[in-house]
Amino acid sequence: MKAVAIEGKCQLKLIDTDQPQATDSKLLIKVERTGICGSDIHMWHNGAPVGLIMGHEFGGTIADPGPAKDKFTAGERVTVLPANPCMECKYCQQRLYAACVNYMADAPGISTPGAYAEYFLANPMMVRKIPDAMSMEQGAMVEPSAVALRAVHLGNVQPGDRVLVVGSGIIGLLCAAWARISGAAYVALSELNPSRREKALAFGDVDEVFDAGDPKLQKKLLKATDGGFDKTFECAGPAPAVQSAIGATGYGGTVVLVGVNYDMVPIYTMRVNMREIMIKGSYGYSPEEFDTCIDYIARQALKTDRFVDDIVGLDGVQNAFERLNDPKGDAVKIMVKP
Ligand SMILES: [Zn+2]
Ligand SMILES: [Zn+2]
Repeated sequence: MKAVAIEGKCQLKLIDTDQPQATDSKLLIKVERTGICGSDIHMWHNGAPVGLIMGHEFGGTIADPGPAKDKFTAGERVTVLPANPCMECKYCQQRLYAACVNYMADAPGISTPGAYAEYFLANPMMVRKIPDAMSMEQGAMVEPSAVALRAVHLGNVQPGDRVLVVGSGIIGLLCAAWARISGAAYVALSELNPSRREKALAFGDVDEVFDAGDPKLQKKLLKATDGGFDKTFECAGPAPAVQSAIGATGYGGTVVLVGVNYDMVPIYTMRVNMREIMIKGSYGYSPEEFDTCIDYIARQALKTDRFVDDIVGLDGVQNAFERLNDPKGDAVKIMVKP
C-alpha cells in the first residue's frame, strides 16, 4: 500500500509498504480522510522518528473486521480513538486512556503506524461507528474536536463567561466554538497572523480579535473585560503566548494550557498569586468526550466543514505540511485522502 513516512527534518516521503492484515487483536480499516494535526507538524520539524507513518485523526471504512466480526461488518463507516491503552494501569481503569502509563508503547501516528496510509490497524475497542449522514471529513474532525472539548471542560466554561483563546490554529478555533456552545457571553481571540485573525472572526464563534504582536495587547485585553478574562485557553505554545494568556486572565480565572511547547517557559508568577489564577494542563480526551463530538458533529451542532481548507492525496502531504507551517498562510486544516 502507499503511505507517507517521515524521512528527515521537515521532509516526508511517499513510500510503498506491505498492506497490514487484521490480526487476533486488531481489525483493518480502509482510511478515507486523515487530518493533518499541529502535533504532526512538530514531529515533522524534529524529523524523527525516521520511517514513522504519522496521522491520528481520521475517518474510514471497515476493510476486515477481524476479531470483531460480531460488532463490525465490512464497509461500515468509522472513526477511531488513536490509542491502544493497556487497560490495566490505574488510569486505564478510570478510562483516562490519554494518561495510560504505557500510552507511548503503541500510540498510532506517534510511536506506531498511523493513518497517512491506505490502511490502518485498529484495536476494536477504540473504533466508533459514525452515522451515514456524517462525511469522512467530519469523521476525521472528531479527534481534534475532542481535544478542544476536553480543554473547555477543564476550563469549566459557564454561561456568561468571558473567554480568551490565544492562537487561531484548529484547536484554538474549536475551543472558541465549544466555548460558544457552552454559553460564553464574550469570546476573544489573539493571533499574530492577520489573515488568520480575519478568518477566525468570519467563522462566527469569536466576537473580537486582537493582534498578538501589539505591544499594548495586555492593556487592551484587560480593558475589554474590565480587568481580565474568566477562562483563557492557550492554544499556541510559544512563551509570549503563554505569558499573554496568564496576563490577560482576571481574578479567580482559569488558564488552560493546550498548546505544545517542548521548552521551559518563564511566567510572571506574581500575577498568578495576586489574581489567584488557576493554571491547568489539558491533553487528549476521555472516550465520552470523543463520543460527544461524534454526536455534536453529526447533528451539525458543532460545524466542522468550515475549517477544512483543502483535501490532498498522499503525494500532496509534504506540500500541505509546508502550507500549514507558513507563518503568513491562513490554512488551518488540510485533509489527506489516501
Ligand atoms: Zn492531533
Ligand atoms: Zn494503561
